[in-house]
Amino acid sequence: MAAQLLDGKGIAKQIRDEIKIDVAEFVEKSGVTPCLAAVLVGDDPASQVYVRNKERACEVAGITSQLHRLSADTSETDLLALIEQLNGDPAVHGILVQLPLPSHITETKILDAVHPLKDVDSFHAENVGLVVQGRPRFLPCTPHGVVQILHRCGIEISGKHAVVVGRSEIVGKPLANMLLQRGSNLGPSAANATVTVCHSRTANLPEITRQADILIAAIGQAKFITADMIKPGATVIDVGINRTDDGLVGDVDFDAALEVAGAITPVPGGVGPLTIAMLLWNTLAAARMQAT
Ligand code: NDP
Repeated sequence: MAAQLLDGKGIAKQIRDEIKIDVAEFVEKSGVTPCLAAVLVGDDPASQVYVRNKERACEVAGITSQLHRLSADTSETDLLALIEQLNGDPAVHGILVQLPLPSHITETKILDAVHPLKDVDSFHAENVGLVVQGRPRFLPCTPHGVVQILHRCGIEISGKHAVVVGRSEIVGKPLANMLLQRGSNLGPSAANATVTVCHSRTANLPEITRQADILIAAIGQAKFITADMIKPGATVIDVGINRTDDGLVGDVDFDAALEVAGAITPVPGGVGPLTIAMLLWNTLAAARMQAT
């Protein structure tokens, strides 16, 4: 039997509609319009598309956005000066530095320069620490999107074995941390998993992925997770976005997985749309924190 399709696009739309209402209420009460400043260094085509999509999503939600474009040869000092300026600007509530940055710039130095209260990506060391301790200020956008999909599709996380393939700072590691917490913003059923994290040096990977009730692929390799790596009936969340000759594909061999999994996210239309929705969520949260 074919797996249930988890409609990330629909869920993202639902969340964006909710945020739009919340933003309007916040503006009415506080007289403050939330504002997201995006910083784009260089002319990477994918980054330009992401930033444009984020700007459009802000506009629809009633959030003001700024785009600060810097050339690829911008120095670290100049980038830090811009971030300092945005940190001190009371009209800016959230700051997003689009990654990847050019190789002459140290990413962690830049991300740690963003004021923690404006760090809507939740990449600052202080915010990462708060997530790990289970008292998040901002939830990282893509991992939060994954949890929202599971929760809104009625898939219990508590007590399940979640296997996360990928240990990046942006997806794998923070997601694993969120899944194993005692609670979440969506209640204890959206946390309390038994979590296994796998990576490129994991031995016997298929043996481990086959034990997953919830299998999350955040690897960056097209169709890496094959049907024989999935336990029948498991929920499969595909975070991967890979550009191939056949168009965008995920990290999961979707057509084959559909026959084994109980539920699965498509690519595109799965996790991707949630990332922007959760960025809007954090921008509103940042504006609320700074207004009090
Ligand atoms: P990274 O490249 O930072 O991390 C990839 C992870 O996968 C690493 O931990 C790596 O292990 C692991 N890995 C690589 N090869 C293997 C292998 N053969 N077996 C097991 N593990 C392996 O990627 P990101 O986490 O940033 O992104 C992952 C994917 O998700 C990409 O396709 C990206 O485009 C997509 N993405 C999607 C988003 C969305 O909005 N939907 C947002 C962010 C990312 P090791 O640490 O050992 O190198």
